[in-house]
Amino acid sequence: MKYESTRGNSPVLSSAEAIKLGIAPDGGLFVPTSPVTFSPEAIDRMSSLSYGQRATFILKEFLTDYTAEELSQCVEAAYGGSKFDSPEVAPIKKLTGDTSILELWHGPTCAFKDMALQILPRFLVKALEKTGEKTHIVILVATSGDTGKAALEGFADVPGTSIVVFFPEQGVSAVQKRQMVTQIGGNVHVVAVRGNFDDAQSGVKQVFGDCALKARFNDRGFNLSSANSINWGRLVPQIVYYFSAYADLVKEGTIKSGEKINFAVPTGNFGNILAGFYARSMGLPIHRLICAANANNVLTDFINTGTYDRNREFLKTLSPSMDILISSNLERLLYLLTDRKAEQINAWMSELKTKGSYTVDAKTRNKVKALFWSGSADDGETLATIKEVWERQNYLLDTHTAVAVNVLEKYRRETGDATYTVVASTASPFKFNGSVAKALLGEETLEGKGEFALLQDLSSYTGWPIPGGLHGLEQRPVLHQKVVNKEQIGDAVQEYLLT
Ligand SMILES: *Cc1c(COP(=O)(O)O)cnc(C)c1O
Repeated sequence: MKYESTRGNSPVLSSAEAIKLGIAPDGGLFVPTSPVTFSPEAIDRMSSLSYGQRATFILKEFLTDYTAEELSQCVEAAYGGSKFDSPEVAPIKKLTGDTSILELWHGPTCAFKDMALQILPRFLVKALEKTGEKTHIVILVATSGDTGKAALEGFADVPGTSIVVFFPEQGVSAVQKRQMVTQIGGNVHVVAVRGNFDDAQSGVKQVFGDCALKARFNDRGFNLSSANSINWGRLVPQIVYYFSAYADLVKEGTIKSGEKINFAVPTGNFGNILAGFYARSMGLPIHRLICAANANNVLTDFINTGTYDRNREFLKTLSPSMDILISSNLERLLYLLTDRKAEQINAWMSELKTKGSYTVDAKTRNKVKALFWSGSADDGETLATIKEVWERQNYLLDTHTAVAVNVLEKYRRETGDATYTVVASTASPFKFNGSVAKALLGEETLEGKGEFALLQDLSSYTGWPIPGGLHGLEQRPVLHQKVVNKEQIGDAVQEYLLT
């Protein structure tokens, strides 16, 4: 399998090269040059496989320049050990007669980013070996929360790599901060930046754009890279859990083999749901993909009208990992739905850059509408959904997953579609315990309580255990204390690498 850019101006490359580069040299995103499809029999056979075997079965079709042994090693290192606290890796739980929850948060950081970031570093290290690259990879990440910790866990002590994560001193929760500053690993650095997320991000972008600095790093054998969600190596592992969920539903007798189901996905950068689109185009019987947004509902408007318009206020919500105005991975969908018209993609993306908006043609709009349905839920609806689902089903949702459950209810009311639906659950409720406790116990009971006390309260109230990744967090030693201004981000990286 080869990879081409959605902008049409980059060489066609192997998967190892595409993963090493992350973003294509022409600014586009890498996509496989030809479709992969599985027969209904092949999909049936997955029911008797473990998660790791299902992963290898799917990955080998896309990463054809990796040997079977290399892929098994990557899969085993990511999903085989004790990093995930569930033997099924991504277990499925029945919510009601027509709905199951796919729990994607059993990894070390309790959010779905682990599904991809546990394996991407393994792909990357092999990609360096395979392409004869001798440099040491330095991953720079600016994070507003979930990605930073997941990247730290994924890259910690991976040979041939280092990682430096910058987080806004004021912009992450107490739990998220504690998760990062207690990170163990000989190759990890965590730095607080004075300011908000934009300050951290613009500071990191400046380092990537500083040619003189990059040359100095290259001279010393370092190669800067990012682990962001447009890397094909992050998208491809996400396809696996769509197949895995289906295989489990067939296995437990909830659906018949070949029966079509829906997926409802809490969406931000469009990476998770795009993996669902890939699964569907590979033959997985999916009827509708339900794209759930919070109050930052750019995607809902796009799916309903064909116009993508980022000219709107950026809202901070209780589902912060979906607070996004530019969903980068949408570019891959548009490329495939226009039958790979790179020229068209270039035109739309340059309009997005200059005007902040673009409108797709009627044919593309209709294709999007036939596959996707989208709605949004505000913070009030999110909290009400957490409370309702706990009271009715005794199941605890985090704020992101609650957005998806709420939007699924809207979908069913509006369309009357009774198709069995799987909701992708993207975070443990304990990761966003402040909001979840508020939904269940009311604002008054939170008065004066810290996030760590709330973890315990929530656990006592629900009888759900605090996940290993968050347990005892308050007692772990702080290993990273550096704080910088955004102008000093480059200096901090230099200090770590060159001295
Ligand atoms: C990243 C994230 C999302 C959004 O996923 P995308 O692939 O960016 O659409 C949703 N929920 C949680 C908890 C996340 O961390």
